[in-house]
Amino acid sequence: MSHMFVPGPVDVAPEVLAAQTKPMLPHRSKDFEAIFQRTEAKAKDLFYTNTRVFQASSSGSGMQEAGIRNFVQESVLTCVNGSFSQRWNDVAIGNGKKADKIEVEMGEAITPEMLRDALKQKHYEAVTIVHNETSTGVENPIKEMCDVVHEVSPDTLILVDAVSSLGGVKIEMDALGIDFLLTSSQKCLALPPGLALAAASDRAMKKAESVTNRGWYFDLVLMEKHRLKDSTPMTPVMPLIFALDFQLDRIFAEGLDNRFARHAAMAKKVQDWSIARGMEPLAKEAYRSKTVVTVKNSLNWDISALNKFLQTRGMRIANGYGKIKDITFRIATMGETQLSDVDALLAGMEEFIKQS
Ligand SMILES: *Cc1c(COP(=O)(O)O)cnc(C)c1O
Repeated sequence: MSHMFVPGPVDVAPEVLAAQTKPMLPHRSKDFEAIFQRTEAKAKDLFYTNTRVFQASSSGSGMQEAGIRNFVQESVLTCVNGSFSQRWNDVAIGNGKKADKIEVEMGEAITPEMLRDALKQKHYEAVTIVHNETSTGVENPIKEMCDVVHEVSPDTLILVDAVSSLGGVKIEMDALGIDFLLTSSQKCLALPPGLALAAASDRAMKKAESVTNRGWYFDLVLMEKHRLKDSTPMTPVMPLIFALDFQLDRIFAEGLDNRFARHAAMAKKVQDWSIARGMEPLAKEAYRSKTVVTVKNSLNWDISALNKFLQTRGMRIANGYGKIKDITFRIATMGETQLSDVDALLAGMEEFIKQS
């Protein structure tokens, strides 16, 4: 099996791939509804929520758009510290909303103090936060940020993209008071791409009812009507629901806490290696991601030559992303990747350096 140390799409276990190949069912049938109901029930445990989890046929970006269209009538505050948080700002503007920004350099985290200042200056219907910036390997201090919103502007909805962390890092939606929490199938959940999961709080759903021009495909009020009947307004991405059903059992068999500890240990190993090697992670120590390490390429390694070499051993890493594409490289430590795989990767990289 190949090992892709890229931050999505990640390797999918053969038995999970196989779970997709079950015969299709009519989606408005008791048989399918039973499966759809149990995948939602399991997803609620994954999100640490008692509310609801939408299972949408789109990639994660679709749910960024849903968050904006359903929960923001006019103005939103977007926290931007990398490419995916910038995307959420683009999505808001593309949907005709007024989107203010708190912006820091790539590699930095958004601090609770910045959020406090912005919320004191102006009232916002919602704030968008990317929990784990996959472009920079920075994890924002989500608990402290949520605490500030609750304190300074309690009616502002908190929308969180956890595409590259949910299922790999503990994010307790209800305990944190998050209103909308979204992820994609192809990252920490180690499924093929094409399915998004998103949980929404009761107060967010109430707000959505008053927002106009929610669209149709991502209208969560319409989706909620169907969800209550274990269904969707449109045809769901059935093979991925079958795979989700199977994969969530595997995830709970490993145990969520074990899974989180495995991700943290793998990331730490890569971070320590980069420092020992004379480079360093882009992120400051307090904000380092547990699912992807973005390393400053200060030794000017030829990443495409490195990847060619690694591919002869069935492995590959990722380039930098966005504005820092050429000055960083990224090693993902998410999904089904094990510590022994990381050892094999680091050994392979050492070998490449020795012979080049
Ligand atoms: C990958 C990623 C996205 C985009 O997800 P898609 O499923 O490709 O739409 C958004 N946000 C973050 C943090 C990501 O890592």
